[in-house]
Amino acid sequence: MGDQTNLEIPDQLSRAATLAKDAAPALANAQIEYLSDIIRLKTYTGEEGPAVERTLEEMRSGGFDDVRSASAGDALGTVGSGAYHLLYDAHLDHNEIADEAEWPYPPLEPTVANGKLFGLGASDCKAGVASIVYGARLAAQLDLTAGCTITVQGATLEEDAEGFSMRHLMESDDFPRPDAVLLAEATDLTLRRGHRGRCEVRVKVRGKSAHASTPELGDNAILKMRPILDALEAMTPGLPTNEALGSGTQVVTMIEGPRTPNSVPSWCEATIDRRLTPGETPESVTAEINSVVGSLGGVAVVPNQKVTSWTGLDLSGPAFFPGWLLDADDPLIEAGRLTCAALWGHAPPVDIWKFSTNGTYSAGEADIPTLGFGPMEEQYVHTALDQVDLAKLLKAVMFYAVLPTAYTLVRSG
Ligand SMILES: [Zn+2]
Repeated sequence: MGDQTNLEIPDQLSRAATLAKDAAPALANAQIEYLSDIIRLKTYTGEEGPAVERTLEEMRSGGFDDVRSASAGDALGTVGSGAYHLLYDAHLDHNEIADEAEWPYPPLEPTVANGKLFGLGASDCKAGVASIVYGARLAAQLDLTAGCTITVQGATLEEDAEGFSMRHLMESDDFPRPDAVLLAEATDLTLRRGHRGRCEVRVKVRGKSAHASTPELGDNAILKMRPILDALEAMTPGLPTNEALGSGTQVVTMIEGPRTPNSVPSWCEATIDRRLTPGETPESVTAEINSVVGSLGGVAVVPNQKVTSWTGLDLSGPAFFPGWLLDADDPLIEAGRLTCAALWGHAPPVDIWKFSTNGTYSAGEADIPTLGFGPMEEQYVHTALDQVDLAKLLKAVMFYAVLPTAYTLVRSG
């Protein structure tokens, strides 16, 4: 999409951008201190409690309204009181450390070097949380909430089960449906409007056990799985495809059977990672696979994923995370592009993510217009070079402070 288009910037938006650019630097030290504090807290999925508490404290001291924890344990705070409801979302859990020896700085000791802040979860997604907390705070401080009420969500459970905590918030917590969701995941200050979805599928085939010394009395399930694996592999070129997101893929990632070396195996189960285009459902995926493996004795199901929040709630649900794509001409994209153009003189590219996000729920399930913008860079996500550029972090604060003005202008025509 055009990235250098000259957009007409309304006066009100230019003024908002000037105010935000002038005022943001004064918040930089406090923001870095808060971000460093949450990086010091190891918050694997389901263990986000301490970072949620720290975030609630930051919202309270930052003048947010209605600061509270969702029942599934997300940190929530609100600014503004306009008719349009914007949800700013980023998650507080992070990927696990694979090999600490690879890290240039200790992962839990935030370190500033060459204008970058290094630390575990900085790029995914704690710098995103710091961007939306401080962006909303700046909007309130400068009276730039315009026609919007902005809820900031420091989300939980995203790494293992993206979208699950947001689903619980919207479907079980009596949370008012937002008009738009902004995801502060890594985009390097450009815009993202979707990504492929993903799901897990298990294909099981049954045989008949027998002593391994008399295999002719049994029916070997591992051997029955062999043509099923070939059939699954042969499906890939025919999977649904999307012009912007590309084709679906599927790959066998695990295979299991009974741990009985002296018996003919009575069952065999293959696990498949499937990548999805928008519109696919658990039913459509299993029907498609069953139509191929059914005649070979295989049965496909989408398994249930066990998920427990740090507050002790069982959020388990199907391991299915829909793909999504926001229309290129959606007003939310126009608001995002106008915000960047007002701040920095040009609108950034609008692309898609390779990885999956909480948009699987907001856009993929709930059909709420959803857009991504964050200061972090995808290349550092889930790596030992986990970091955020501090100049970009401050720009994201400006973006989130000015977006409500642009959104209000676009929506009210
Ligand atoms: Zn993330």
